[in-house]
Amino acid sequence: MNQSPRIAGPAPRLRVQAMKEYHPPLGSRDKLRLDFNENTLACSPKVREALAEVSAGSLTRYPEREPVEAIVAAHLGLKPEQVALTNGVDEAIHVLFETFLEADDELLLPVPTYTMYEVYASATDARAVAVEAADDLQFPFERLLAAINPRTKVIAIANPNSPSGSAATREQLLEFAARAPHAVLLVDEAYFHFHGETVMDLVGKLPNLVVARTFSKAYGLAGLRLGLLAGPVELMRWVRRVLSPYSVNSLALVCLKAALEDTAYLDWYVGEVLAARSEFEAAVDRLKIRRWPSRANFILVEIGARHEEFVRLMRAAGVLVRDRSSDPGCDGRVRITIGTREQMKHAAVALNEALTALGSGGETQ
Ligand code: PMP
Repeated sequence: MNQSPRIAGPAPRLRVQAMKEYHPPLGSRDKLRLDFNENTLACSPKVREALAEVSAGSLTRYPEREPVEAIVAAHLGLKPEQVALTNGVDEAIHVLFETFLEADDELLLPVPTYTMYEVYASATDARAVAVEAADDLQFPFERLLAAINPRTKVIAIANPNSPSGSAATREQLLEFAARAPHAVLLVDEAYFHFHGETVMDLVGKLPNLVVARTFSKAYGLAGLRLGLLAGPVELMRWVRRVLSPYSVNSLALVCLKAALEDTAYLDWYVGEVLAARSEFEAAVDRLKIRRWPSRANFILVEIGARHEEFVRLMRAAGVLVRDRSSDPGCDGRVRITIGTREQMKHAAVALNEALTALGSGGETQ
């Protein structure tokens, strides 16, 4: 890597100069948002009430995360020292990589997967080693296991994964933890609530397991930026050295408590999404387009060569979906977030009409 001669003024690190720009397609999203796997409705009304009680005076203080970390830890059956709240899981990933990845280290990950692992790894001096899933997009267990070597320092597994919706089993994850004792095994459970399976109970029992969770999906708090990392005290101690003490703001801390308490709302929303997912999958099957089985609040569908036009037609019908064509092995594939049953009925109509307009099928009614 040579420093670009075109840079005027102070030059950033060479690593940073080599980084790809990443611009998520935000903007003009005042439609049915089936593009970012968010909660498509609202957070718990209890969160709104908690926000309304925030006083102007309380905003003058720096946020105190520790009492809330203790509440979250108790909720997860962990010790407070095992849990760190973060500014979304994105910050958790960033901080974890900054803590552990150095020159000659490797980040091992299956692809396609969540984009930010490679983005944050590219800001370090480590190398990302990507193992591509087969066409069924199932977790490439054997090949990923075979890629472990003494340089492997972090293994990042989104479980369930995005954009595929597929999941690794508990046994597979345990095998990774055992076969790479010199590496941190990050299990990113961003979509845990829709999957129902977790390895959170193993935190502190395995020396290298770190689990991430977000409040951006089922809880409906993406705008507040709330996530967490849970791991053995010995590892979390290092993570806390890198983590800003104030990166989770006080509004987020207030809302977190209220969101955790309202389990009825969370259960209702997750139940609604799971019911909607079955109905929408049936609608997709009737249209005879390929889809991948999903354990999360989205499904990936095969649209083919006219994927860009498809996304435009859906947008024109008021439904935002996400083209994943630039992901490894995903050309022509589009990810559709699952919302409520009512929203997904609307999405199914738009899907049918878009496919009819493209001349690639659609139902005759
Ligand atoms: N991990 C995965 C697997 C995700 O899909 C996402 C969000 N799309 C995140 C982490 C980021 O979550 P957060 O909003 O908490 O930063």
